[in-house]
Amino acid sequence: MKKKIVVASGNHAKIKEIQAILSDFEISGYKEHGLDFEIEENGTTFYENALIKAKAVSDALGVPALADDSGLVVEALGGAPGIYSARYAGDGDDSHNNQLLLKNMQGEKNRNAKFVCCMVYYSPDGSIITATGETHGKIMESEQGPNGFGYDPLFFSDDLQMSLGVADPKEKNKISHRFRALEGIRKQLK
Ligand code: IMP
Repeated sequence: MKKKIVVASGNHAKIKEIQAILSDFEISGYKEHGLDFEIEENGTTFYENALIKAKAVSDALGVPALADDSGLVVEALGGAPGIYSARYAGDGDDSHNNQLLLKNMQGEKNRNAKFVCCMVYYSPDGSIITATGETHGKIMESEQGPNGFGYDPLFFSDDLQMSLGVADPKEKNKISHRFRALEGIRKQLK
């Protein structure tokens, strides 16, 4: 019988991606277990936010839970938007976030940036497994491409040598921060 892991996310695409990588485990989303609370992410790091989410779900269900927290880290902006990536412009709207990023990067020569993802696996006995994945690139001068979500159209990937707004989603998944963090978790769970 496969070991069960509950993912502390309501995002179906994310749950499917995790299922594909952790194929030795039975993966489900926390909302499938009758939980409908929204988890407040009031940590100060990606790790703290992921831990808050994984622990909340594990405590509620008494089973191991997996959570992630991710965002864009821009060198010239001292690491912003970081853990505030989703609500950078204040309203959670991707295109407003991208406009603000472009404004704050106007005239900036250092365009280095990375997406970071921290994954935390929390067991009911309190033990924790964690892994961080990164993918590096540059912030472009304007949006390019219809693919992806969030900051993808402004992110020129060093690995793929193109905007993540242009890249095929399958190609993006092979180099993504989320994929790399999950691989780190998979290796430790073995
Ligand atoms: P979450 O932790 O996966 O919910 O991501 C938080 C925020 O970081 C998202 O709302 C996006 O703004 C940004 N982000 C995280 N991963 C990506 C990505 O792969 N592409 C573009 N933006 C991302």
